[in-house]
Amino acid sequence: MLKINEHYLDLSEGFLFTEIARRIDEFTAKYPDRDLIRMGVGDVTLPLCDAVIDALHKAVDEMKDAATFRGYGPEIGYEFLRQAICDHYAKRNIHLNIDEVFVSDGTKGDLSNILDILSRDNVVLIPDPVYPVYVDTNVMEGRRILFANADKENNFLPMPDRSVDADIIYLCSPNNPTGAVYGYDQLKAWVDYAIEKDAVILFDAAYEIFVADPDLPRSIYDIEDAEKCAIEFCSLSKTAGFTGVRCGYSVVPHTLVYGGIDLNSLWMRRMTTKCNGLSYIIQRAAEAVFTDEGQAQIMENIRYYQENAKTITGALDELGIWYTGGKNSPYVWLKCPFDMDSWAFFDFLLENAGVAATPGCGFGANGEGFFRLSSFSSHDDTIEAMRRLKKVFTDYGK
Ligand code: PLP
Repeated sequence: MLKINEHYLDLSEGFLFTEIARRIDEFTAKYPDRDLIRMGVGDVTLPLCDAVIDALHKAVDEMKDAATFRGYGPEIGYEFLRQAICDHYAKRNIHLNIDEVFVSDGTKGDLSNILDILSRDNVVLIPDPVYPVYVDTNVMEGRRILFANADKENNFLPMPDRSVDADIIYLCSPNNPTGAVYGYDQLKAWVDYAIEKDAVILFDAAYEIFVADPDLPRSIYDIEDAEKCAIEFCSLSKTAGFTGVRCGYSVVPHTLVYGGIDLNSLWMRRMTTKCNGLSYIIQRAAEAVFTDEGQAQIMENIRYYQENAKTITGALDELGIWYTGGKNSPYVWLKCPFDMDSWAFFDFLLENAGVAATPGCGFGANGEGFFRLSSFSSHDDTIEAMRRLKKVFTDYGK
């Protein structure tokens, strides 16, 4: 008889977003005339930039002519795109070999697929709270998971504990959901820890473009020795509005060698065996992101979101509400006021202000009592949501 992967039965319910939708439906049924502002959006809202649209049109036209038509491409991505990614890193003084870069349809898939080349016997260390994909993909394969506590005391930036033995370490900076960003010294401590434990760091840089402070790292390879212990995942989803277009990449340096085996060869083998690459058209669009023109245009969109983040943090500063993020990240992670738990604050904000966002408890046990606001809404909605927040906060405090 067929046997299923029983580890899937160990997954916790994908309860968070269903429950948010249920409570919003209830609100709109109860108050059909009230206007609801969604501040929990984890998706981009601004369209693709002109450089990307032009590249898409051009690539589509190439497909109608036998001389320029493309069939199967290289499984790990066309050289033109991998070279553009290498050149982009080189501008920040990070020198990658072109065959250390692997193009994919996005980071969510990469984060899961990388586990194919890592034994199920490895112990995994994951920050709590965290992007739930790290936990679920490991639960699906039955790996033992330890959590690194992120909390108010460490500004949601947990540091390594040498008494903990881990083999696979997840780091996400700027972080989803907390918006917290590691500094150089902090990441160096993680790199040293990983080398000491002969572990690998899976570094999720999906939000690196939001790092505005020049004194903060944007890549794990900004850190000395990281090429000996870290894989980087990055995505054009938030960088260039590719959430629906799809394109990401992973960097697996040749210097990642464990027990005499290099991870780059295993990852190459996995990619070439299990996928046939991303479409030519999308790769041309992605290439356009890395041109000077593309970079200038995507930064206009990023600045738009950063402006929203400023509106949010400005309101929280005024109200004296504790938060992380917002300065170098699209997410703002706040301590729920009035000692409310995450769902109580969700209901309070929805009922009194008509504003919906994301309860922190959905990202892990340590998220309880916290709340995530996102800067991916429009300027008008963000300003109005913060006006309402200030009003209900003041009224409630009276
Ligand atoms: N990593 C983090 C931390 C994310 O928040 C997200 C999406 O929200 C992703 C990865 C997914 O990226 P992609 O769209 O490239 O699959």
